[in-house]
Amino acid sequence: MHRDSPKTSQLSGLCDLVLGQDPKLRARVSMTLIAVYGYAVCSGLLVYLLSTDLVASSLGAIWLLAYMWTGVPIFYLLVRTGLSSKLGSPGLDLAQCLFAMSAIVASYYILGSVRNGVLLLIALVIMFSMITLTPRQVRIMSALTIVSLGGVMVLLALTSAREVDAHEELIKFVLAACTLPALSAVASHVAKLRTKLVEQKSELRTALALLQEIATHDELTGLYNRRHMLQLMTQQINRQLRNGEGFCLALIDLDNFKQVNDRHGHQMGDLVLKLFADTIKTELRQTDVLARWGGEEFLLMLTAPDPGLLGAQASMARFQAALANTEVGPGIRVTFSAGLTEHLLGELLHETLERADRGLYAAKAQGRDRMVLVWAEPPPLAPESKM
Ligand code: GH3
Ligand code: MG
Ligand code: MG
Repeated sequence: MHRDSPKTSQLSGLCDLVLGQDPKLRARVSMTLIAVYGYAVCSGLLVYLLSTDLVASSLGAIWLLAYMWTGVPIFYLLVRTGLSSKLGSPGLDLAQCLFAMSAIVASYYILGSVRNGVLLLIALVIMFSMITLTPRQVRIMSALTIVSLGGVMVLLALTSAREVDAHEELIKFVLAACTLPALSAVASHVAKLRTKLVEQKSELRTALALLQEIATHDELTGLYNRRHMLQLMTQQINRQLRNGEGFCLALIDLDNFKQVNDRHGHQMGDLVLKLFADTIKTELRQTDVLARWGGEEFLLMLTAPDPGLLGAQASMARFQAALANTEVGPGIRVTFSAGLTEHLLGELLHETLERADRGLYAAKAQGRDRMVLVWAEPPPLAPESKM
């Protein structure tokens, strides 16, 4: 058996600690950590710029570093602990994008001659927003960015008139105000496609679950249908070949069911079929499976831990008693006849089914409301006749 080396398991333990174990949570925390990486790179550059005289306001740069590294751990902890979900946004996506934009706009203000470089970062955040925000949130964020960038440019032109050329700032603003909406439109379009994909995925999942339900269940009784029962029996035969776990089959047919329809109507007949199935279902062990075989016929598979034919007979007697005590419609009681047999190791399924069918036929012939056991091999000797 493959075993992880201690180093590998330590590493995966560390990953679990940092990212969490739930795949969705891991995806959210990973996105937050990618942002952390961005902040780390920008902070490194800012610290370098502080050592030169390229920063217009050293105090401002220190405040900006403090601002970023207060916000970053808070976002990480909120997302990692799941508190963000309680706040209504598991990934805090809009808040994180707005926080990043505010840091970018602030850095535009405090940086000196190199400030133009940060405009690139705005495009980076908008790209990020394509995969995290809703189309509306993308538009909100872009609008706020244009407004705040314009505000900072005006502030710079007013407060640092000597270092900043107001005309140049105006041109930059016009450029930003023209390109940002286009960028935002593309991002919003991608976000729309993404939202649609998520919706379609969920619709497909629901449709698939419905199809699976329809393909495997009988609509009226909610029991497994014939097709699925055949699959389950084939699986059980394979299990028997592997570990010897045998099973018994009981083919059940409601007695004189036509009369129920004739006397009470077809709709009441349907209800009786449903209540019959519900009554037997409550008596089933977890390992037993009941299916609607067709019309008013049902097939029951009784498996371990008591697969012997006599054990199965006892279970059937329990179902009979339960049914005798139940009104399956107003004043309506029904009985069933059944053929019961055991599947022999190595025989074909249809051979077992044929034996059960023979038993059912005999039960009907003998007067109904009974079960007939059909032994595949000679029945065990009664104790007194044993040597
Ligand atoms: P027996 O004891 O010999 O089995 O008699 P029976 O009347 O039960 O058998 P028969 O085969 O003569 O009639 C079965 C009836 O079951 C006829 C059919 O209309 C009815 N039936 C089959 N499927 C449904 C169903 O889904 N809903 C209703 N209401 N009746 C059904
Ligand atoms: Mg019948
Ligand atoms: Mg029938």
